[in-house]
Amino acid sequence: MAAQAFDVVVVGTGPGGYVSAIRCAQLGLSVATVEDDRPGGVCLNWGCIPTKSLLRNAEVVHLFERAAEFGIAVNDWKADYAQAVQRSRRVADRMAKGVEFLFRKNKITLFRGRGALTSAKVVEVTGGADGAHTLEARRAVILATGSEPRSLPGVTIDEKRIISSTGAVTNEGRPGSLVIIGAGAVGIEFADVYATYGVKVTVLEALPRVLPVEDEEVSALITRLFSRRDIAIRTGAKVKSVTPGASGIAVAVEAEGKTDTVQADQVLMAVGRAARTKGLGLEALSVATERGFVTVSAAMETSVKGLYAIGDMAGHQMLAHKAMAEGVVAAEAIAGQSPRPVDYGNVPSCTYCRPQVASIGVSEATARAGGREIAVGKFPFTASGKAVALGETDGFIKVVADKTTGELLGVHIVGPEATELIHEFAVGRTLEATLEEIVHTIHAHPTLSEAALEATLAALGHPIHI
Ligand code: NAD
Repeated sequence: MAAQAFDVVVVGTGPGGYVSAIRCAQLGLSVATVEDDRPGGVCLNWGCIPTKSLLRNAEVVHLFERAAEFGIAVNDWKADYAQAVQRSRRVADRMAKGVEFLFRKNKITLFRGRGALTSAKVVEVTGGADGAHTLEARRAVILATGSEPRSLPGVTIDEKRIISSTGAVTNEGRPGSLVIIGAGAVGIEFADVYATYGVKVTVLEALPRVLPVEDEEVSALITRLFSRRDIAIRTGAKVKSVTPGASGIAVAVEAEGKTDTVQADQVLMAVGRAARTKGLGLEALSVATERGFVTVSAAMETSVKGLYAIGDMAGHQMLAHKAMAEGVVAAEAIAGQSPRPVDYGNVPSCTYCRPQVASIGVSEATARAGGREIAVGKFPFTASGKAVALGETDGFIKVVADKTTGELLGVHIVGPEATELIHEFAVGRTLEATLEEIVHTIHAHPTLSEAALEATLAALGHPIHI
């Protein structure tokens, strides 16, 4: 079979892959992409986007529950979970079509099938509906094959009774009771959705707190608010085994040296994801890996010249926006530019539960452990006029800064639109803004963003509205 030649071949069309392909095309390179599932990858089809659609449904259901508070009488309403899932599938379909549109617009060729390297610059595509292809990359191959859900030893995810996030976004039925193993972003977001739709949810987390990567006060508040919603949260609770039986699933938990069993109709495995590197031909090329992730340079090049890797398979935070940033760096490096490397210390972390959680930089505890003298300012949304008007007063913004220089070390938000509000601080940190520069910036009234101003003022010791 004659090889088809392109400047760049991108394997995988998730957020890392499709963004790198578009950036390569913008820079005048001819690009082929390879996809064995649907354009847009996990994020767009089975992850971020359908989950955000389900979480939006949960918000709407919650607003209906609160209708009387707004003086609205709503009788005989019913929230149909199957329709929530169907809506989320339509949302995902629309976004996947959007990726195909962007490929056409940028003259990027999409090959369907599984890509594997036969040399550093040749990708064989097999298993697609339109047959096999050999793709030759004149300049570079970018690997962007993402990750897949992990399970616990001996536990098989069947996506029916023991599900991963993939089953959670596709199953139209919902169980009476659900045990969620892991309280990272996946566990907490689905606890929110299922509990809102009336499922009895138990979250089991091995570490001492939920959302363990977040600031301790954030974890504590989410635990309190979720517990109020009858979501059972057990931390320091390590799952040892998961045994499906005739009437339910038995989950054995070890906590404080004792083992007990929690029963549920269904189990959601949310214990993290593993890089998808198998079957790509990496071993034959001796591509360096570290703890399952492909080792890359600041320009995203692997140990093999001309072979790049980005996104979940390349380590660091397994987040779509980090993958996109890496995709841009790889494309620009391949095009001969000198892109600024990704700043892994300035990647926003967002969990889209109710209330939302977002953060950037280090936690208060980490900043203190760093040995610097720090200033901490906190502003609760109960003191924000806009939050009170919205009826969304749970949460706070906490700013952690260097006391001497005013450098923003970390910002932690729980509350309405936290995942939007965080970007003021992301830009601030990129520009190396000090606390004084943030407060010198006029924030419109009334907005939720004023809470950012007030938390910054609090770090300086003179908030106005508390
Ligand atoms: P995660 O690594 O964030 O959390 C997994 C949790 O499971 C950890 O807290 C871990 O301590 C716990 N755990 C592991 N083994 C356990 C056991 N035996 N018993 C009890 N608890 C156990 O992983 P995730 O939540 O599955 O998410 C996967 C990846 O996808 C993460 O990198 C996450 O950041 C990303 N993601 C991000 C978003 C978002 O940005 N909103 C949403 C979903 C997923």
